[in-house]
Amino acid sequence: LIQLFRPLDLLGWVYRTIRQGLIDMADMFRLMDTEAEVEDVPGAPALVVRRPTVLFDNVSFGYEQDRQILHHLSFEAPAGSTVALVGPSGAGKSTIGRLLFRFYDPSGGRILIDGQDISQVAQESLRRAIGIVPQDSVLFNDTIGYNIAYGRDDPSQEQIVRAAADASILPFIEALPQGFDTEVGERGLKLSGGEKQRVAIARTLLKNPPILLLDEATSALDSRTEQDILSTLKRVSADRTTIAIAHRLSTIADADIINVMDAGRIVESGNHADLLRRDGLYAEMWNRQLSEADETAQAAE
Ligand code: ADP
Ligand code: MG
Repeated sequence: LIQLFRPLDLLGWVYRTIRQGLIDMADMFRLMDTEAEVEDVPGAPALVVRRPTVLFDNVSFGYEQDRQILHHLSFEAPAGSTVALVGPSGAGKSTIGRLLFRFYDPSGGRILIDGQDISQVAQESLRRAIGIVPQDSVLFNDTIGYNIAYGRDDPSQEQIVRAAADASILPFIEALPQGFDTEVGERGLKLSGGEKQRVAIARTLLKNPPILLLDEATSALDSRTEQDILSTLKRVSADRTTIAIAHRLSTIADADIINVMDAGRIVESGNHADLLRRDGLYAEMWNRQLSEADETAQAAE
């Protein structure tokens, strides 16, 4: 409920509620606290990433005081590896991404990047080190060039072109009469889901982050486009540490480590072959997705 209030409204609401005797002061501070933004510790140094290892060390977290979402969760992403997080919806996968980006602090345990506790470093330096390719890419009503350059101070045209090439969208852009100056969005050229995704990948690449966080789109791209995007992502994540959150297991079957989550815990961990042999939750999910793919294929015949 509290999510519905903007900060200024919250004060008025708290005032009225206290007046009505509905909550006490302790509750008020708890509510205020959940609204407070994560702040830098005074004099926080910049994160320095030499080897982009990511370590979740015994991390616990809940959005609300009395509802834990993550329970003593530990996993490691060695530098340069691809680590996948899979599991039923609501398991806490996206929450892990939000904690890594430090939208929230854990209530227990630590998150380390290259040995540095992310709650102790300047947020700006943390966020610079992590590139996110979000589930649904939002474009501004501006040019394609602007959309790729967004969030980066003054990149050169050469850097923009290279990012577009690496995201495999350069041929598409060059075929447009206005090229990078083509207006996109509501009043301009409408891009397909796959094209939008590529613009978002180019935007992320321009930032050149050592760590990539991919939260797979649930909105289905057609499977051909999906495969194309996947091979692009595979290429760009090759020399970075990648944390990939996936709903479709086909997306992450070749990850170095697959962590299977259920109800805020990692219940299985290993590579694809290990997990199939184990014949547990992953194997069950894999077989279910295979038979669903079969049914879809048959329905299409
Ligand atoms: P997944 O990505 O695995 O589907 P999430 O990490 O998004 O799961 O969510 C895990 C749990 O946390 C869910 O029960 C969800 O309802 C809850 N949750 C997610 N975001 C919030 C929020 N902002 N406030 C309260 N609960 C949340
Ligand atoms: Mg999610």
